[in-house]
Amino acid sequence: MSFFKVLVIGDVGVGKTSLVNRIVYNTFTEKYKATIGCEFGLKIIEINGEPVRVQLWDLAGQDRLGGISRLYCRDANGALVVTDATREGTLEQASLWKGSVDDNVRLPDGSPIPMVLVANKADLLVPGSGMTSDDLSRFANQRQFVASYMTSSKVGTNANEALVRLVEEIMKRS
Ligand code: GDP
Repeated sequence: MSFFKVLVIGDVGVGKTSLVNRIVYNTFTEKYKATIGCEFGLKIIEINGEPVRVQLWDLAGQDRLGGISRLYCRDANGALVVTDATREGTLEQASLWKGSVDDNVRLPDGSPIPMVLVANKADLLVPGSGMTSDDLSRFANQRQFVASYMTSSKVGTNANEALVRLVEEIMKRS
């Protein structure tokens, strides 16, 4: 069975742990509990009728400014770069997170590993105002993300879809 390592990165509080919990356990909790160390989630998804194992790496306390650690990035096949749809500032941070990963891991041909841009907490957006998926997708295209999704770890919207899309992109390149 294929096996891929996927990094889950982004600013503190954007919902990385919640997204992993949604994807892996299909649960959500409002209670804030900062991740200590690194949490792993193992998810088996199906691509073209074939099962694929995905290990999600949700590492706490990654200091992007101090540089994301090379060890954490080692052998990573792709990344979900998570932002908070209700905090515009976290979107700008996404390109910096992507850059940090690009500095530490590459595909064998030297190109960047595929990354999907996620704007989480979409359930909190007031319809008709704030970020739209068009805005997000434009931003993602400009910054060489392979795709983008508005998600809600709370409601469950697009959480699995974002991961499946990422893994499809990983498989295209391997
Ligand atoms: P992390 O620091 O990026 O891992 O963020 P957490 O997963 O710990 O989430 C931070 C806070 O945001 C917690 O209180 C979560 O309950 C909340 N949260 C996460 N995802 C969502 C979401 O999709 N919708 C809403 N309304 N709250 C969320």
